[in-house]
Amino acid sequence: MGRLFDGTCHICGDSYDGRGISSHIKRCLADQANKGAVHHGLLVSMRADGRAARYWTYVLLRPEATLHEFDEFLRDHWMEADGGEERNRPSVFEIERTHYMSDPALAEAAAAEAADEASDEDKEDEEDDENEQDPIEFDDMEVDVGAVLRPRMEATYRYDPHQPTPVELKIHDPFPLPTSLVEDREDPMVVTLAENSMEGIECTRCGEAAGWFAIAGEDNDVVYLCDGCRREAEVETHSLPETPRS
Ligand SMILES: [Zn+2]
Ligand SMILES: [Zn+2]
Repeated sequence: MGRLFDGTCHICGDSYDGRGISSHIKRCLADQANKGAVHHGLLVSMRADGRAARYWTYVLLRPEATLHEFDEFLRDHWMEADGGEERNRPSVFEIERTHYMSDPALAEAAAAEAADEASDEDKEDEEDDENEQDPIEFDDMEVDVGAVLRPRMEATYRYDPHQPTPVELKIHDPFPLPTSLVEDREDPMVVTLAENSMEGIECTRCGEAAGWFAIAGEDNDVVYLCDGCRREAEVETHSLPETPRS
């Protein structure tokens, strides 16, 4: 597990380190509750490992949003945000024993294959079933999040099966969405409450603002570097990636 980036709460504008943000965001949402709310939504935290560190974002998700709409948000926010050519890859939410797939044809094919395997197994061994878990089921993403996600549940989102970027999702309690976070008349399905920031990362060698990183040393540690220290570094350096996939 990499280092957690620091980040900013969009409700109050304060900065927090990646570990303090969870309790802060709940307090900050509760503080705002009596100032008026647009709607209630599920608080969902998301974390993903990138090459340089762990990225994190907190969102408020309307129960009426579909998994498809949540998928669109994750694509825009992280997975397809770097302007690269890698776009429109399939993705999947793994929630309890069901895989909700972005491509309905792939979901149908996976369900058919699973049904085939299940009937083969039935013929082969009818004993020995006691330790088996329920089989994985497959579905598309035209499902309301309120029907499948509940507080205190954990789930996984994976983008691109060939080179997957897993995102850990943690579902918290429902909270009211503060009116200060939405524009007039807008009632969005997913609202970003807090997210990591690339600013404030310090050079591991001298403490100046870092814009680069390298993998160095016997333990393959991540080292952050400023422009000056980068010129002297005898390792391959990369610019700090904005998203877990860039
Ligand atoms: Zn705050
Ligand atoms: Zn430096």
